[in-house]
Amino acid sequence: MKAEHAARFREIRDKVENQQRLTLDDGLFLYDPEVPLQEVGQLANLVRERMNGNVGYFNINTHLNPTNVCVYRCRFCAFRSDLRDPKGYLMSDEQILARGQEATENGCTEMHIVGGLHHKQPYEWYRGIIELLHTNYPQIHLKAWTAVEINWFEFQTKKTKQWVLQDMQQAGLGSMPGGGAEIFHPEVRDQLCEHKADTHQWLQIHQTAHEVGLRTNCTMLYGHVEKAYHRIDHLLRLRDLQDKTGGFQVFIPLAFHPENTKLSDLKKPSALMDLRTVAVSRLMLDNVQHIKAYWIMLGIETAQAALAYGADDIDGTVRHELIYHDAGATTPQSLSVDYIKHLISEAGRDPIERDTVYNHVVRDQQDFTRWSSGEPVGASV
Ligand code: SF4
Repeated sequence: MKAEHAARFREIRDKVENQQRLTLDDGLFLYDPEVPLQEVGQLANLVRERMNGNVGYFNINTHLNPTNVCVYRCRFCAFRSDLRDPKGYLMSDEQILARGQEATENGCTEMHIVGGLHHKQPYEWYRGIIELLHTNYPQIHLKAWTAVEINWFEFQTKKTKQWVLQDMQQAGLGSMPGGGAEIFHPEVRDQLCEHKADTHQWLQIHQTAHEVGLRTNCTMLYGHVEKAYHRIDHLLRLRDLQDKTGGFQVFIPLAFHPENTKLSDLKKPSALMDLRTVAVSRLMLDNVQHIKAYWIMLGIETAQAALAYGADDIDGTVRHELIYHDAGATTPQSLSVDYIKHLISEAGRDPIERDTVYNHVVRDQQDFTRWSSGEPVGASV
């Protein structure tokens, strides 16, 4: 490292060691390619181990995308379909129930449910999916609907976000995923998805969700047209909301996959960029407990390495992932529990199964598919 970089890096290291908050300028410096990734990673690892010990979390989960038909046309999206396109689909109640049954038989603790905003399906259809699954499979935690979908439901029902969220809670909603955040800064967001819920709406919906008692996740889609400034700005907006509510439980940096999107001329981010983004996120988001290396998007090897660059969670076994596979993700459709534990152990971490809201999962020794939620995971660190 050049002398002036080394001096500046020492300043940041001192701040991190003294648990002082990093600024926008600090974050930009950490993205400077002149600053060795290794150094940034080691600093992030210090925070990771301070906050989450030597643990690598995972869960046993499945995905459900009830429809890919969508009124919006986000430029980065390979999943969506027009209403009359042969690629379009809409799942029936029977198909949805079959997924619930399959999830139960495989010991899943969570169903992650997101999809398109269908031109013709009313709010009641979306609510009905939650009610149907919750009534028939009450033990499965339903983590459903991004802020973009909640915003669409507000539009459909002409009710407030609070009403929509509480109505969904009554139907069985357990928490919300963090999708739809993309990049908050309007210079980028307007190029990607100018029609859907804007930054203010996304943040307001998560704030309201936290206020009605829902834990939520948060994300950032990086590696397309944005610059380092936009990424740090995004992280700071999340950090500000977390200061107010404390309701985000995990941050998930999502690597852009260009295939089959309107941005297919771009290259996907390198593993080095992926690791740097995980590390910078860990350092900037001092008030979000967990950082997830989502193996579906990062690839298994990078996700495994990310456990030494700030991440403490690798996501789940996953079944039926469509959204990123449509965009060219070459990762498998699911990983076995033994393999995911092996990946975490091989990275030198202790694998711990968590539920969606970060409690230990206690499995029945005789029957793996039977489980209960135990203590909050922090108690083990
Ligand atoms: S990202 Fe979501 S809202 Fe945007 S086009 Fe794809 S499915 Fe629709």
